[in-house]
Amino acid sequence: MWTVQCARCRQIATYHPTRWHCDCGGPWEPPRPLPFDHRAIRPRQPGIWRYAELWPFQQDPITMGEGWTPLIPLSSIEPHLWAKLDYVMPTGSYKDRGTATGLSALREMEAHHVMDDSSGNAGASLAAYAARAGLQATLFVPAHASPVKKAQMRAMGAHLVEVPGPRAQATAALMQALEQDGIYASHVYNPFILLGLAAAAWEIWEQLGRAPDAVITPLGHGMLFLGLFLGFEALQAAGYIDRLPRLYGVQAAACAPLAQAFAAGLETPAPVAEGETIAEGVRIAAPPRGPEILQAARITEGAILAVSESEIQNARESLARQGLFVEPTGALAMTIWPQVLQETDRAVVLMLTGSGLKSPD
Ligand SMILES: [Zn+2]
Repeated sequence: MWTVQCARCRQIATYHPTRWHCDCGGPWEPPRPLPFDHRAIRPRQPGIWRYAELWPFQQDPITMGEGWTPLIPLSSIEPHLWAKLDYVMPTGSYKDRGTATGLSALREMEAHHVMDDSSGNAGASLAAYAARAGLQATLFVPAHASPVKKAQMRAMGAHLVEVPGPRAQATAALMQALEQDGIYASHVYNPFILLGLAAAAWEIWEQLGRAPDAVITPLGHGMLFLGLFLGFEALQAAGYIDRLPRLYGVQAAACAPLAQAFAAGLETPAPVAEGETIAEGVRIAAPPRGPEILQAARITEGAILAVSESEIQNARESLARQGLFVEPTGALAMTIWPQVLQETDRAVVLMLTGSGLKSPD
C-alpha cells in the first residue's frame, strides 16, 4: 500500500499506476512532512539507501549506488560557497536519485513495462534502471532530441519511439500507447521520485553538519527543487533545523515560465513559448508542478530567476576551470550565487546536476 496525497486539493489516496494524477488534475506527492529520524540512518548502505528505513519499501530496491554525492567547498572562489556534485551518478545526472526510488516503488506494484516521455537525462536514467531491474522500457522522444542521449537510451536496451513535432506530440503518442500496454513511469508525475530527491537535502545536512542558508538549483520541471523542499521540511518538522534554507531556482531566460510567474507574483505559471537554449534540460514551457514550486520558493524566502545564454556559458566555463565539467543545464546554479551571497554570510550550496560528457561541445 503506497499512500499519496494530492499536492493541490490535499486528497489522500492509495496510489495506483493507472491513476497517475488526482481527479482534480493535481500531481500526487508523498504525504507531508516526510518522516525523518537520524537514528534510522544506516551509513553502511550505499547512497540514498542510508535513509531506506524512513521509506515504505518492502522489496530490495533497484539501485546502482546512486546518491551520497560529494559536497565540496568552492573556497578558491568564495569561502561560503559549496558544490554538491550530483552529476556523479550512474548515468551522469541527478535524475538517478529519483529513478531509483520511483522505479523501485512501481516495481512493487507489479510493473513490467514502463514508459516515459523524456528526451534527455530522465529517459537515459529510466533506461538504465529498467535494464538493471530486467524491466522493459519504452521512451517516447521528440525526433529532434539530442543524438547523444538517444544513443545512451538505446545502448541500455530501451525501445525508442521517435515522434516528429514538439515535445507535446511525444506525450500524446505515449498516452495512446498506454491504452495497449505498460505503465506511465513519468519523471514528473511519479510521486515516489521525490523520496530519492529529498535525500539530497538530508545528505547536505549531514555532510555540512548543519543546514545551509541557501541552495541553488537548475529549474525545469522542478522535481529536484521540490525534493529539496520536502527534505528540508522533514528536517524542520522533526526538530533538526530551525528554519528552511532559502531555495533558489534558475531558469534559462529563453524558456522561463516559473521565473516570470514568480516576478509577477502569480500562483500558477502561464505557459510560455519554448525558446532555444543551450540549457536543454530546463526547456519546459508548462511545468505540471508549477504552483507547488512557486509556493516552495515563497515559503523558503528564496526566489526563481532567469539568466541569459551567455551567463550560462560563462558559468559552465568557470566551473570547468575548477575541474567541474558539467553540461550547460548543470551550470545554472553557478550563475546567480553572487546575488544570493549578498544576502547571507553563511553556506550557499550549488546543485551541479548533469555531467559535461553528455554535451561536450
Ligand atoms: Zn487533487
